[in-house]
Amino acid sequence: MRKVTNLIVGCGLSGVVLAERLASQKHEEVLIIDRRNHIGGNVYDYKDKETGITVHQYGPHVFHTNNKEVWDYLSNFTEWHRFMYRVKAVIDGIEVNIPFNLDSLHKVFPQSLANKLETKLLKKFGFNQKVPILQLRQSNDSDLEFLAQYIYEKVFLGYTIKQWGVKPEDLDASVSGRVPVYISRDDRYFQDRYQALPLNGYTAMIKNILNNPLIKVELNTDFASIRNNIEYDRLFFSGAIDEYFNYELGKLPYRSLDIMFKIHNCNYLQSGPQINYPENYDYTRSVEYKYYLDEKSDKTIVSYEYPYSYEEGKHERYYPIPDKANQDLYDRYVAKAKELKNVWFVGRLGDYKYYNMDQTVSRALELFKEI
Ligand code: UDP
Repeated sequence: MRKVTNLIVGCGLSGVVLAERLASQKHEEVLIIDRRNHIGGNVYDYKDKETGITVHQYGPHVFHTNNKEVWDYLSNFTEWHRFMYRVKAVIDGIEVNIPFNLDSLHKVFPQSLANKLETKLLKKFGFNQKVPILQLRQSNDSDLEFLAQYIYEKVFLGYTIKQWGVKPEDLDASVSGRVPVYISRDDRYFQDRYQALPLNGYTAMIKNILNNPLIKVELNTDFASIRNNIEYDRLFFSGAIDEYFNYELGKLPYRSLDIMFKIHNCNYLQSGPQINYPENYDYTRSVEYKYYLDEKSDKTIVSYEYPYSYEEGKHERYYPIPDKANQDLYDRYVAKAKELKNVWFVGRLGDYKYYNMDQTVSRALELFKEI
């Protein structure tokens, strides 16, 4: 029987932050395993061989946070490339800012109508306010309801059906609420104080976080294949909580993605780093990675995301699906988890939460303070 002090399952952000804290602050040994053949979990990136451009294998990860502690912590392990993300969606064939803002309004409507809607929005909600689309739909004003219906249909409905397989109102309101209507001229995707990408990529940052002689990394190692042959003082599990319990209470659903990378023989293909397609095509969005780190190449590489429902053994898990039934099932797993003395669940899959990267890091830092 192998014995370790700390076993961490999953080499993504949650796992590596916990490993680093345990090694550097408690001076304890950590074994961190991952079933994949690389570190970093879904933040893993690499330089594409043909173009030399850094791409995110599991889709776009743009770091943003208001949490100074998280920002300062990660800054120990990377230099930053300051970068404010800008996203457009093609609606009615026109590229408009996402979040849909006052400029988007003026792009899609005739001036008189846009002016009238802008005045009503300002009066009802005020300037610089963010209004979730599901809330805007309940405006009790026929003009604002018309606007809400337009944005709902053109920006949210098609995209959400592609992305999640259901309508926005069939998911927890926080999902569509991530991208509210923004009564502003600010065309950035995020308004957080700190917005940046690791200058040398996420994988390099993760490597630095793991750079401690007390941390041992074992890749291509499935927890299931070692769990009966290993003893630990503590286990931190960032895999899927339902899988840990062998799906005893039933399977939690996840969404997955097929991401197709295509090299184009031109300098730039798109007007900006990310274009969403709520109405057209089978993919949700296309991402042109050379914009991210402002990398230079004669060619460009663009990814196209095709979402589908996760099937065990076939796909990678990308997103928990936040709705009432799934939350109830997850809560029942949490009750079982509470019976375990030395096991903690973390991360998007362990906590079954649609975390952003900064929330993942924050959760790991807070958990470390509690143990
Ligand atoms: N969304 C949408 N249209 C858009 C952008 C977002 O309907 O143009 C909705 C969609 O349901 C999406 C959710 O808002 O899944 C969250 O979007 P976000 O960009 O935060 O998704 P992520 O980058 O996490 O995949």
